[in-house]
Amino acid sequence: MTNQQVVQIPPAIVVGDLAELLGVSGIDVIKELMKNGVMATITQVVDFDTAAVVAADLGFAPEEQGAAAPEETDETEEAAAAAPRTLRIVEQGEGLEVRPPVVTVLGHVDHGKTTLLDRIRETNVVSGEAGGITQHIGAYQAKAPDGRTITFIDTPGHEAFSKMRARGAMVTDVAIIVVAADDGVMPQTREAIDHVRAAGVPMVVAINKIDANNANVDRVKQQLTEVGLVPEEYGGDQLVNPVSALKGEGIGELLESVQLLTDLEELTARPAQNAIGVVLEAQTDRHRGVVATVLVQTGTLRQGDTLLAGLSYGRVKAMTLATGERVTEAGPSTPVEILGLSEVPPAGERFVVRKNEKEARAEAEERRRALEAGAVDKTGVTLDTLFGEIRQGNVKDFNLVLKTDVQGSIDPLVQSLQDLSVEEVNVKVIHASVGSITESDVQLAVASAGVIIAFNVPTEPGAERLAKQERVEIREYQIIYTILEDVEKAVKGMLAPIYKEVQDATIEVRQVFRLGRRNAIAGAYVREGTAVRNSQCRVMRGNQLVHEGRIESLKRIDEDAREVAAGLECGIMVTNFTDFEEGDTILTFHQEQVR
Ligand code: GDP
Repeated sequence: MTNQQVVQIPPAIVVGDLAELLGVSGIDVIKELMKNGVMATITQVVDFDTAAVVAADLGFAPEEQGAAAPEETDETEEAAAAAPRTLRIVEQGEGLEVRPPVVTVLGHVDHGKTTLLDRIRETNVVSGEAGGITQHIGAYQAKAPDGRTITFIDTPGHEAFSKMRARGAMVTDVAIIVVAADDGVMPQTREAIDHVRAAGVPMVVAINKIDANNANVDRVKQQLTEVGLVPEEYGGDQLVNPVSALKGEGIGELLESVQLLTDLEELTARPAQNAIGVVLEAQTDRHRGVVATVLVQTGTLRQGDTLLAGLSYGRVKAMTLATGERVTEAGPSTPVEILGLSEVPPAGERFVVRKNEKEARAEAEERRRALEAGAVDKTGVTLDTLFGEIRQGNVKDFNLVLKTDVQGSIDPLVQSLQDLSVEEVNVKVIHASVGSITESDVQLAVASAGVIIAFNVPTEPGAERLAKQERVEIREYQIIYTILEDVEKAVKGMLAPIYKEVQDATIEVRQVFRLGRRNAIAGAYVREGTAVRNSQCRVMRGNQLVHEGRIESLKRIDEDAREVAAGLECGIMVTNFTDFEEGDTILTFHQEQVR
């Protein structure tokens, strides 16, 4: 991995151009993208992060062309950088149309996520013409007060959210954080907020249960301020909506807030192309075979299309909306339940459309072989791989999930860790809390390409298994100092050292003595500095560089000298150089490591 060729990649690049840039075939690039969960055609545009992952996988050292200077990065860029391996397709060009936002609901247990989702489904669902029976298929579409559509993922919670992200599938455009007005911000609320932040997804807070006896909306707003979500009344810009999921109060306003956020985002897709999307959930039904709910992200999915989703493939035999309505087409942001896949794909798996079943099967089989041969790399990160990625310039944010045994160690530790940031690498604690390491922590680490730091806490067996499987590193510590030392090593020690050239002496060539054809001695005068034997040097003729080499021999009145000071004459031989002319200047210099 040492002699990697550096490639400059623009912030967005067409797949075909990327192939050309890397000198590989378009198919190779598309295959690499696929391995990373991105289905893109040769004419599609991918962003730098995505292109960089492909380039790195193909053995290049990618660099962003015209990358913004660090001081120019704003919060959204920081948020995007926090998710270096969240691959996404940047769509450009013709045929783009606005698509509905996709919303996920997160928050502490029992704060009313399910009730809220049920309430929105019941009262605002886009009812089908056939008036079918509303069913739970894992997602549904609802109408906002202005008649526009919003898609809701019907599985609340950050586990599902980060699990999707961990597979490289970013489906959520807006997160609703539910906080019960009678309970306030709780540990899982904080956790949910951290997961959403790490994903760089905008959020709306729904303060729920405002009908409850001991509801205290102001107290919740105060607590939100403490976790950095400052409501407008407190001078911030966090959208906060008081609601009662039970009574159906404030729901319209909540949906308006969601739209307000997405109107800033300009969510678009290209309905005219073949569908690309994500599997939200799937299971086998005794009568119907594999039943999968998929979310179309771009393009239009049609009954009869042949899908390929990981190792699973098949022709779409039937499509049903959450309203129970049978459809033959589903456009961008539409969740549909489909029948016809060969096996159950995991949630978060991407799907694409293939020409026919034969082609899809062949590809699925090739993937299975690659998987069995262990050729498909997991995206897991360890401190060691981070070193490599940092060196390649792939990582700007060094993401850490920190778990400790007592609350008291969190603040000082977070502060000390973040203080280890250097210009090129930002140490970022994306989540810090008390308690053992859970699956949710691991999901967050996978999704954000981060490392988990366990300070005096155990790892739950499920989390341990998942971490192994996803190759997430959990580093256990008993002493704060060693944590800091290790992270510092990762950030600083492993960065490529930077050298600076330091000028030592300016020497004038006053006379040239030739000794046969192969040797020449410059009779010289040290004008400035000290000439030192063996030092690096450049022979200059005027402004022109004539030769670069080393001072091979240095003589002072026929005696070998180690140094000759300014104001003295000397005889100099330079390695591999005999063409001295009177009036040449020899500049000597050395490299100094600045870091
Ligand atoms: P989840 O764990 O976040 O999905 O919470 P649930 O939706 O299951 O709700 C937990 C409990 O809170 C249930 O007993 C709900 O009836 C109750 N609940 C949910 N929303 C409201 C509300 O707006 N007001 C009141 N008073 N109770 C609510």
